[in-house]
Amino acid sequence: MRVYLDNNATTKVDEQVKVVMDPFFCEKYGNPNSLHDYARETHPALKTALEQLYLGLNVDKQDSIVITSCATESNNWILKSVYFQDIMSGRKDHIIVSEVEHPSIIATAKFLESLGIKVSYIPINSEGMIEASTVADYITPKTALVSIMWVNNETGAIFPVEEIAQICLEKGVPFHTDAVQAIGKVKIDLKNNPGIKYLTFSGHKFHAPKGVGGLYVRKGYELTPLFHGGSQMGGYRSGTLNVPGIVGMGKAMELAIDTMDFELGDIKELRDYLEDELLKIEDTFVVTPREKRVPTTILISFRGVEGEAMLWDLNQAGIGASTGSACASEDLESNPVMEAIGAEADLAHTAIRFSLSRFTTKEEIDYTIEVVKKAVKRLRGISSSYAYMPEGEK
Ligand code: PLP
Repeated sequence: MRVYLDNNATTKVDEQVKVVMDPFFCEKYGNPNSLHDYARETHPALKTALEQLYLGLNVDKQDSIVITSCATESNNWILKSVYFQDIMSGRKDHIIVSEVEHPSIIATAKFLESLGIKVSYIPINSEGMIEASTVADYITPKTALVSIMWVNNETGAIFPVEEIAQICLEKGVPFHTDAVQAIGKVKIDLKNNPGIKYLTFSGHKFHAPKGVGGLYVRKGYELTPLFHGGSQMGGYRSGTLNVPGIVGMGKAMELAIDTMDFELGDIKELRDYLEDELLKIEDTFVVTPREKRVPTTILISFRGVEGEAMLWDLNQAGIGASTGSACASEDLESNPVMEAIGAEADLAHTAIRFSLSRFTTKEEIDYTIEVVKKAVKRLRGISSSYAYMPEGEK
C-alpha cells in the first residue's frame, strides 16, 4: 500500500482541477496579452479564475491579487518591497516576523538584516503558539511591516492573525500574513479584516499544480515590482501569464472552500483517530493542542526514535511523511519548531509530521498506525540512547 501523508509539503492535483486546465496546453495556448483570437480565448477562463480567488478569500473588488510563481516569490516580494519603499528612504528601519516563519520569510529577513535593517523574531510559547499581545510589545514607530504566518507548516498551529492584524491596524503598521497552510482549513475573510494588508498563498498546497501562487494587496498599499518588464499584472509582475496554472488555481480555490466542512469534520476525525492511536505508544508527545491546530496536521515525537530513521522505515512501507527538517549531507538537523519551543535535543530530533488531505482514507490511516507502531518498537529496540534512558524519562 502507498500512503501520502506529506500534504503540508505539497498536494496532489485534484482531477477536477486538471480537467479545467487541460484545454490551455494544446488548444487555447495563446498569450493572453496578444491581440488575436488565440489570446482572447484564454480571457474568459482567466476571468473566472480570478473571480474564484476573490470569492475564496472574500476580497473586495478594489483590492488586488497579483499572480506569482509560488509563495516563496510572494514572501520575498513583500519584504523586499517594504525595504525599497519605506526603509531605503529612511522613514522606517524595522520589521517583525515570528521565529517559526517559513524559510522564505526568515532567509529574506536575514538578508535584509545584512543590509542593515532591524528584525525582531517573535518567540512561540511552550504550546508552539504566538501570542498577539507579544507582537504588540515589539512594534515601534519605526516598524515598517509585521509578517506572521496564519498556520504553521510544522505543527499546524493556527496563529491569532486576525487579532494581530487588528493590533497592527490600531498602531498604523502594515500587516502581511503567509496563509499558505490556511487555505481550505481556516475561514479567510479579507473584506472583514481591514488590518491584513498583504496575504500570500500557493496553489500546490491546495490541490492546484506547482508553479503558481499569489499575493493579495489591499487598495492603497503599494508594491515595488520585483520583476521589471512587460505590462502583465498591471506592470507589477512582468512575465507571460501561466494560463493553465492560474485557471487551475482558481478552480482549486473554489474546491478548497467547498470541501472545507469535510476537512473540518471527516478529515479531522481521521487525524484525531491517528493521533489517539499513536499517543497510546508510551513516551510519545504532541506539542500544540488539537483545538489550536488545522484539522490535517500532527507533529509528534517518539522519544528515542530518530526522525530520519523513522522516515526510512515509513518509506520502506510505502508511507510518505516528513521530519520538517532539512537533512544536510552529514548533519541531521532537528525540527525548527521543536527547537524554538526549547525541546530537549533528543526530542527535537524525533519529531515526525503527518499531514492529511481530503483524499486521505480510513484504510490508509489504519495501515499507517500499524506501520508506525512496528517502526517505533524496532527503532527503540536498536536505540542505545533509549535503552539507557532513566525510567522517569522513558
Ligand atoms: N510558506 C509556508 C508556510 C509553506 O509551508 C511553504 C511551503 O512549504 C511556503 C511558504 C513556500 O511555498 P512555495 O513552495 O509555494 O514557494
